[in-house]
Amino acid sequence: AVEIIGMHKSFGNFHALKDINLTVMKGERIVICGRSGSGKSTLIRCINRLEEHQRGKIIVDGIELTTDLKRIDDVRREVGMVFQHFNLFPHLTILENCTLAPISVRKMPRKDAEKTAMHFLERVKIPEQAHKYPGQLSGGQQQRVAIARSLCMNPRVMLFDEPTSALDPEVIKEVLDTMVSLAEEGMTMLCVTHEMGFARQVANRVIFMDQGQIIEENEPGAFFKNPQHERTKLFLSQIM
Ligand code: ATP
Ligand code: MG
Repeated sequence: AVEIIGMHKSFGNFHALKDINLTVMKGERIVICGRSGSGKSTLIRCINRLEEHQRGKIIVDGIELTTDLKRIDDVRREVGMVFQHFNLFPHLTILENCTLAPISVRKMPRKDAEKTAMHFLERVKIPEQAHKYPGQLSGGQQQRVAIARSLCMNPRVMLFDEPTSALDPEVIKEVLDTMVSLAEEGMTMLCVTHEMGFARQVANRVIFMDQGQIIEENEPGAFFKNPQHERTKLFLSQIM
């Protein structure tokens, strides 16, 4: 579903991503971890072109990301993204947040879009909030809306960038449960998270980034039990 080959990204003189090679197959669930500043968000953001890479290739669902704007739009509508801060539109209701893109981008009739939205709001267990505004919901509820909103576009891949790190401890579980159920349904997922319980439970592979590089990659059992790299060991000892 996603193929990244020899990809580099710089911000001016700063070499943020170095020779990234990563293939995510359909149905795979990859967890990305690493210290602050190691390039995790930048990597995720390159995949839906919120950032532009300079060298190498990124291919999403068969479409190579180039400067061709039409193709970038084509990719973006297949890729769902959930951020640390939910990025809901505050002046739109929950239902309107969920129907906006399907109506404007997919040209879905409003009635169908609302039906789809209610379906996914039920999936994330907050259909009763549909007519409220984001500011009236808890952080965990808002994040579940953000996930439902992405699902309304029927994405091929879901990208998560620390979806639980801005949440109060008591609502983290409800968001993680939602993500686990998505994983169980076979969604292709790329998640930046330090929730190692989640990684153990659902990841096919865990990727460890350091200073802009992928320095270690393994299935979760081996990754946690027997990390190879000194920096991976240090990181794991600090967060567990
Ligand atoms: P965190 O865990 O804190 O979210 P991260 O692994 O997601 O960190 P990135 O946000 O990808 O790290 O940042 C990687 C590096 O790139 C950092 O050194 C950061 O300062 C730099 N960087 C990120 N965005 C920009 C930008 N727009 N301009 C310049 N430098 C940037
Ligand atoms: Mg980040």
